[in-house]
Amino acid sequence: MKPFIDLQAQYGNIKEEILKCINEILESSHYILGENVKTFEEEVKSYLGVSEAIGVASGTDALHLALKALNIGKGDEVITTPFTFFATVEAILYVGAKPVFVDIEKDTYNIDPEKIEEKITPHTKAIIPVHIFGAPADMLKINEIAQKYSLKVVEDAAQAFGARIGNKKIGSFGDVGCFSFYPSKNLGCFGDGGMVVTDNAEIAQKIRILRNHGSPGRYIHETVGLNSRLDEIQAGILRIKLRYIEEYNEQRRKKAFLYTKLLSDAVITPKEKDNNYHVYHLYSIRSIFRDKIKETLANYDIPSVIYYPLPLHLQKAVSFLGYKEGDFPVSEAVSREILSLPIYPELPDDEVYEISQIILRCLQNS
Ligand SMILES: *Cc1c(COP(=O)(O)O)cnc(C)c1O
Repeated sequence: MKPFIDLQAQYGNIKEEILKCINEILESSHYILGENVKTFEEEVKSYLGVSEAIGVASGTDALHLALKALNIGKGDEVITTPFTFFATVEAILYVGAKPVFVDIEKDTYNIDPEKIEEKITPHTKAIIPVHIFGAPADMLKINEIAQKYSLKVVEDAAQAFGARIGNKKIGSFGDVGCFSFYPSKNLGCFGDGGMVVTDNAEIAQKIRILRNHGSPGRYIHETVGLNSRLDEIQAGILRIKLRYIEEYNEQRRKKAFLYTKLLSDAVITPKEKDNNYHVYHLYSIRSIFRDKIKETLANYDIPSVIYYPLPLHLQKAVSFLGYKEGDFPVSEAVSREILSLPIYPELPDDEVYEISQIILRCLQNS
């Protein structure tokens, strides 16, 4: 099988810079909360146009720390989408709050703002939109609803580093934005990493303390926090990759547009709303012949992945929430029909043609 994402191709292009950087950090013996984390935080602030950025150990921790810093906990409800990676919901449960799901839009697969208000109760404290596959959620409408009901907005931007609406970057719309640097993400490190961004200095200060055992200074503990720091080595690697992120995202978009040109008559291809800059973390098509397409591609050694086969409201881990099949028909239909094709900045155009031809031939025979 060919790789679904060829991380080796990207590493090969920047190997010398990376090895030099790692070597310098190893020689310095400064591994935790040093210059690289600090400088990377500054660079992300300037890239995203936010006033605060805090490096943490993962995207999951970024969400967890954001909710904790917003004082969301027991008795509170947090609205989110059932069509996301499980971590979004885990973070809500870690702080003791209750996840409340809202179905998705059928074109972007993001939370449907038209269906949010009916789920708001006196216990609702926050909304977590997820910019799924790298497509911006409708932040203007979501922020409007949040303002009307005095709710906090925490963006799960794990799949959307560099995405934007107009000129404003995803992650800068909510009270807090959360990023993941998991290796396969658009901006990925060589292990786990994450970041919380905000324009609120008070929230930022809380998160800075919470990520480091609730400690504002050596062996002083104001509160019970976590051990959730971004490492120096990962920050050093991310500083190098941040210099290329615009180019990486542009390349992803080129591959995506080529797939769309070749496939849009045969399957449902991703939609990009006016004025949105989608960063195609994943390129996901929809077809009622999904399983047949997947099997045919596999016969040609081409991997494809189902993100996500079972929406979160139907997962055993959250069965205590009492949801049932039929509660979120759009998420359920999408889960039955969605298929993600290989996409990464270095994916050769030839392979996009080849993959598309295989899909077209497979559907002609259906
Ligand atoms: C990857 C991801 C996360 C979790 O990030 P980690 O760094 O793996 O903890 C959260 N939400 C979404 C939507 C993701 O894709």
